Amino acid sequence: MAEREFQFRNFAQGGERVPKELQMFIGGQWVKAASGAVRDILNPADNGTIALAAEGGERDAQKAIAAAKEAFYEGPWVETPPAERARLLFAVADLLAERGSDFAGSETLNTGKPLREAVYDVNDTAACFRYYAGICTKPHGQTYDVSDPMQTMVVREPIGVCGQIVPWNYPLLMAAWKLAPALAAGNTVVFKPSELTPVTAVMLFELLEKAGFPGGVANLVLGPGNTVGQAIASSLDVDKVAFTGGTKTGRSILEASVSNIKQVSLELGGKSPNIVFDDADWETAIDYALFGIFANQGEVCSAGSRLILHEKIHDHFIEELARRASKIRVGNGMDPETEMGPLISREHTEKVLHYIEIGRQEGARLICGGHRISAPPYDQGNFVEPTIFIDTTPEMRIVQEEIFGPVLVVQKFKDEDEAVRLANNSIYGLAGGVFTGDGARALRVIRRLRAGITWINCYNPTYNEAPWGGYKQSGLGRELGTFGYEEYTEVKQININLSVAPSGWFKG
Ligand code: NDP
Repeated sequence: MAEREFQFRNFAQGGERVPKELQMFIGGQWVKAASGAVRDILNPADNGTIALAAEGGERDAQKAIAAAKEAFYEGPWVETPPAERARLLFAVADLLAERGSDFAGSETLNTGKPLREAVYDVNDTAACFRYYAGICTKPHGQTYDVSDPMQTMVVREPIGVCGQIVPWNYPLLMAAWKLAPALAAGNTVVFKPSELTPVTAVMLFELLEKAGFPGGVANLVLGPGNTVGQAIASSLDVDKVAFTGGTKTGRSILEASVSNIKQVSLELGGKSPNIVFDDADWETAIDYALFGIFANQGEVCSAGSRLILHEKIHDHFIEELARRASKIRVGNGMDPETEMGPLISREHTEKVLHYIEIGRQEGARLICGGHRISAPPYDQGNFVEPTIFIDTTPEMRIVQEEIFGPVLVVQKFKDEDEAVRLANNSIYGLAGGVFTGDGARALRVIRRLRAGITWINCYNPTYNEAPWGGYKQSGLGRELGTFGYEEYTEVKQININLSVAPSGWFKG
């Protein structure tokens, strides 16, 4: 595929789009689905078709797994020195930087997210490739002085064929989080994006090809989770599966992985608490409470979707929060003025609206939003107002279940113990934040939070250097940082006899 086979429509200017077919990349070749099937890829802002994607199935997944297996066991990849792997990863980052605005526009077009967020994702993606390009040439082993005459050393080796499955909310960034560490560590991969958002994954694989990765090292399969994803998770030839998505799907991946006891890492859902004490810096706390839930339309696994407010500031805080939330400019992500875009699909919009209805029925009080935005020019798209519920109780479904949309629920607390108790009252443990002017209290509360990613006096910043992942039903393992790299390695001990002579254990 020499050039991108689609163009994106510039909504603001009303330009026309030309849908073409997006193909899969298997064994170094761009291919259609074995069945010949294609799927319409939609723009969430108007549900118009922006591209047609090959709709792969189980046969395609098996072909990709076979290509990855051959490249790992028969090809030159395992012997490729870390410095060469680093060079290839740096090349991907450079190519991505050159085409940054294409990638950002395409990501916005396919996911609905505001362009400024897509630009951020593209930069972060390039930085992730650079980070792991740097990591793979750094020392990873250990040596031990054990009893004479032995020397023990420990080396990290690639796991083998890694299956990687990601969702639709950060298609490009999630691809980087998966591909960069796996390839840096010397694995081969079979990558599956969400069937809704294959566009930037296809573009990224064009860059992998251009950078010069050998055929079969990185394979892209498009298609639905229950066929392609399931085939990857249950394959006897896949040595590790790395998954980001919902907790229910994560459970089925875990079950499927039992077939060959493959290694598994899971980045799952969340219902993360954001605690604000009465001594917090007011502007900072309001600003991050909004950013925590309404960035990326709330379609963020780590969203601060439960705001836990001290009773002394509760009334004044929610009044200001509702005022500011209702001013968020919702619109087409391609419009530079847009601050919050449409939700990913009609189906997901219905799910979010259903939760809003559940909240009403449970007796929570809406102080902001709560509706689909359906007046023109929003009528064809998946737009929902920024929504805030107060007067909630801990057992309500809107407090316990992940909505994955622009819906904030507010809880109220009297003292530190109650704040922590409310915060930890969840099956999830992905993220959490605390806002206070008291440094000791901030750290005390954060240490008591049962969550893997936490923030003090801010919410959302994410770094390639630091591990990402959750406690409880939010996942297994970590991505990013050296932790994320190690998840793509096996550990081998090598014991060396420095005085080559028989042990003499058996006398005969
Ligand atoms: P899903 O779990 O539905 O899907 C995620 C991916 O898994 C998609 O590629 C999907 O394919 C695939 N899939 C679906 N069913 C199966 C199956 N049986 N076997 C293998 N793969 C399958 O999640 P969503 O796409 O709806 O994404 C939203 C969820 O992702 C939220 O719960 C969110 O919290 C979580 N998430 C977690 C993150 C984290 O870092 N912890 C980050 C981002 C999101 P397809 O859809 O193409 O059919």
